[in-house]
Parts: sequence; structure tokens; C-alpha cells
Amino acid sequence: AKELGKNTYQFYATEMNVAHHVSHLSLENALRFAMERKQLQLVYQPQYDLLTGQLAGMECLIRWHHPELGLISPAQFIPIAEENGLIVAMGDWVLNEACHTAQQWRLAGLEVPRIAVNLSVRQFKPLLLVNQIKLALSSSGLPAHLLELEVTESVIMKRVHEAVEILRELKLLGVKLAIDDFGTGYSSLSQFKVLPLDVLKIDRSFIEGIPSDQDDVVIAETIMILARKMGMSVVAEGVETAKQMQLLQKMGCDVGQGYFFSRPLPALEMQGLLKPALSDEVIET
Ligand code: C2E
Ligand code: MG
Ligand code: MG
Ligand code: MG
Repeated sequence: AKELGKNTYQFYATEMNVAHHVSHLSLENALRFAMERKQLQLVYQPQYDLLTGQLAGMECLIRWHHPELGLISPAQFIPIAEENGLIVAMGDWVLNEACHTAQQWRLAGLEVPRIAVNLSVRQFKPLLLVNQIKLALSSSGLPAHLLELEVTESVIMKRVHEAVEILRELKLLGVKLAIDDFGTGYSSLSQFKVLPLDVLKIDRSFIEGIPSDQDDVVIAETIMILARKMGMSVVAEGVETAKQMQLLQKMGCDVGQGYFFSRPLPALEMQGLLKPALSDEVIET
């Protein structure tokens, strides 16, 4: 890792390294204690309004600093946590950490845009999830409209009827709902149209090919038209170059997220991007 002090610029421990040094079981055990030992941390990736250039939101992403292995990617440990059920407690921690941090910023007089949290399939259970969200909001004091929940297309499509019910209940709480990694999960459009979603996130794999791959350009543009017709705003994820950003802007994409704008940042650095709230704005507590 180039800059050891700045954890977000560190490289993840490679899959091979992790697999080599610890068995699946000990990784699972290590994960069990990681939360108590404060090895888990959230980083915040800014999202920008492509029309105004203003900060439009942020996505919370979990990080695990393993004492020996270094930084382990969520792509490696989330599946383990899903397998053993630990994801429910972990997801609850993420929700609470995100809501409390955002509300602390607000109480410090900062203007805080929407904060997005990823949900796992195991959290996506009617009673459990709605209660988790209610508690995270009430204990932090964060207004519901500032919380956005990201669910992947595949999680929703797995059991679409149950998903519609859950999403409707969540909407009643006043939170925003986003469909993540869109385009990778084989959505049936007839089922898709009944979902009460606010935001559609176009998967990075389509953004990658922009502007050189004509197929990706067409797919991205078509997804955007679809989203707009359905009243959703569109976030492009994985924007890495100025060229991608410019074409997305031209296509009328609402929001961009990716290394071109910023890597995911530790809380203190994210805080540095926030502006003071207007003085007459009343902070709800
Ligand atoms: P995701 O929700 O699609 O998150 C976006 C991922 O893309 C993040 O990877 C982010 O760091 C990365 N990314 C952002 N901009 C760029 C870019 O310009 N180029 C490239 N190549 N990558 C970019 P990360 O943080 O490693 O997370 C991977 C996945 O792990 C997430 O994908 C999400 O599905 C899952 N995840 C992360 N945090 C949580 C969490 O708290 N709960 C749950 N259930 N899942 C999480
Ligand atoms: Mg996400
Ligand atoms: Mg995504
Ligand atoms: Mg993705």
C-alpha cells in the first residue's frame, strides 16, 4: 500500500492472500469479533449532481481492517457474513453508524445530503428490516428522507412479491429507495414497474465501456430513458474518467459516483466536503 496512513488508498488484501493465510472457518470467527474490536469501519463515497456539480449524496461502504491481513474487501467477507447470518448484526451496525454519523454532522451545523446504505438479502425480511430502520432513525434523530437504502436488483427479483411489500413499508417510513447494480440482475420489466423506487444505479460494468463501446453507450442511455419514464433519478456508478462523465452529462444522467470524483473517504475527510447549513435552517432532532 502506497499511503499506509490513509486507509482508503490502501489496496485490499488479495483473495489469494486471505485464502492462503486463514481458513474459511477462522475468517468467520475473526469476523465475529471484528465488530467488538472496532475493526469494522465505514467509508463514504461522494456522489455529485452532474448538472450543478454540487454534492448530491454519499454511499456508505463497509471496510474491515484485519490486524494481520490488512484491508479485506467487502466482496470477500459479506458473502461469509451472509452465509452465517452475521450480516444481520453487521447490517444493523452499518445502519446505525451511518445514521448517527450523518446526524452528528447536521448537529455540527453542516448541510448533509442523502446518505445511502447497502442492504443484504438476509436483512431483507419484512419485520426485521422495518424495525431496524425505524430504530436507527429514531435513536439517531436523522430525518427519514435523508436515508437511502440500496438493494440490488437480484435481491428484489429473487422474491418479487415479498420485496414489493417490504419496499412499500419502507416507503411509508419516508426513506428513499434505490436499486443497485442495475442491469446485471435480469429484471423482468413487468415486475420492475410496480416497485416503488426513487433511484436507479446503473452498474459500473456498463459505465466502464463508455464512450468507446457502442453497446454499453446504448444500454446506459436506454436504462436512463427507462428510469426517467418511471420517475426515478439515475446514478452512474464507477465513473472513472472525464470522458465518461461528459457523455453521462450529455445523456442527462442525474448523478455520478466514482473514482473520477472521489474514492470512498473516511468520515473525517467526508466531513471536510460538507458545507455549513443555511443559518435559518432548523435542525430536526
Ligand atoms: P456496490 O454497492 O455496488 O458499491 C460500489 C463499489 O464500487 C464499492 O466497492 C466502491 O468502492 C467501488 N467503486 C466506486 N467507484 C468506483 C470506480 O470508479 N471504479 C471502480 N473500479 N470501483 C469503484 P466496495 O466498497 O469494495 O464494495 C463492494 C460491494 O460490497 C458493494 O458494491 C456492496 O454490494 C457491498 N457492500 C459494501 N458495503 C456494504 C454494507 O455495508 N452492507 C452490504 N450488505 N454490502 C456492502
Ligand atoms: Mg451500493
Ligand atoms: Mg452498486
Ligand atoms: Mg456495482
